[in-house]
Amino acid sequence: MSKIEAPRGTKDILGDESWKWAYVSHVAQGVVSDFGYKEITLPIFEHTELFHRGVGQTTDVVEKEMYTFLDKGGRSITLRPELTASVMRSYLEHNMARGSQPQKFWCIGPMFRYERPQKGRYRQFVQLDIEAIGSRSPLLDVEIIDLSMEFYRRLGLKNLQVVLNSVGCPECRPLYRKALQDYLAPHMSELCESCQGRFDRNPLRILDCKNPACKAITENAPSILDNLCDDCKSHFATVMKALEKLGADIKLDKRLVRGLDYYTKTAFEILSGDLGSQNAVCGGGRYDHLAEAIGGAPTPGVGFASGLERVILTMESQGATFGKEPKNKAFIVTADDNALLEAASLANILRTNHIATDMDYMARSMKTQVKAAAGTSDFAVILGQDEIEKKFYTLKNMATGEQESLSLDALIEKLK
Ligand code: AMP
Repeated sequence: MSKIEAPRGTKDILGDESWKWAYVSHVAQGVVSDFGYKEITLPIFEHTELFHRGVGQTTDVVEKEMYTFLDKGGRSITLRPELTASVMRSYLEHNMARGSQPQKFWCIGPMFRYERPQKGRYRQFVQLDIEAIGSRSPLLDVEIIDLSMEFYRRLGLKNLQVVLNSVGCPECRPLYRKALQDYLAPHMSELCESCQGRFDRNPLRILDCKNPACKAITENAPSILDNLCDDCKSHFATVMKALEKLGADIKLDKRLVRGLDYYTKTAFEILSGDLGSQNAVCGGGRYDHLAEAIGGAPTPGVGFASGLERVILTMESQGATFGKEPKNKAFIVTADDNALLEAASLANILRTNHIATDMDYMARSMKTQVKAAAGTSDFAVILGQDEIEKKFYTLKNMATGEQESLSLDALIEKLK
């Protein structure tokens, strides 16, 4: 029979890597708590309509990338491709507008997109998602960007670039869209096939096409920053001023339009210089009309999502530290089968005293067990007939090789 492997675009995170994930998650939790965000846990799957209406019918995510199926009740269900629409759905469903505003949320969890897998791009990937809902203040946009930068700073990431744009609002975007179409129309036949398709449906996406011909054409296209309405212009000016005050190194990018339809005003990405083509470690922005799109009262919001695989890849390539790989405190080495029962009960005593402990279950030689202890634990507790009969324990420090004989109480005290 053929072997069954993990589906393409997914990956198993095994023991030698999972502690790195735990470290990144721990750092994230420290940052979000310092910024006053609360954890939210939402379903992995939602009604497909949430993404059709929230993310937008003409986006790549909705058109091509969703894992959608009918459940046994005939409902169309989608594995979440992103979290913002779900967070807004939950905010509206639980009437959170009644509490003090803004409400600030964080979540770490898997997302699913049927994309062409490559380094840094997977079909199941984990995002740290941050959302602040209920305020129009441009300072909240700045808080979100500041939070993302603080996360990367605490992880020791270098060589990052924050790129920023405004994508306008329903008042000014249609006018800009028209100006862009007028500019692009004479070049229609020179655009790539995908961009020709985008011309009517989503012309702003032509600005971030990677095709060199399309890039050359859009080089001199009108900039949305020159076409913002007064409200979007003053919002953007405040964001810029506040970021300047924070000393943030920001690059304006008129091509940045983001792949999801719900963005209004501020849009930003943080790019890593060490990731190759999939170089965005995070992306986000403001989404003041998402709530209405999914049937709620007008509710402003701003947020970002960071792909943790890409964060870890960047950390690895820059040699950043993940802290110390966690080790057991003690490994019980048994001289023979007779000592095994004693070892099991000693392991129980140590564990209930919060001392991380492991032991041998494979009847290996003492030499092999001591080697296992050296690889996994700070100390070996040696348990032979002599120790059992005379009721003491030999404790070996695996770093220094020092040994001492201890009573049970002294052993617990020492290992604690
Ligand atoms: P988005 O939800 O498309 O705005 O993406 C936000 C962030 O999620 C990106 O900047 C990446 O860090 C990460 N991301 C998006 N898609 C993928 C993917 N297919 N594989 C890995 N990370 C991803």
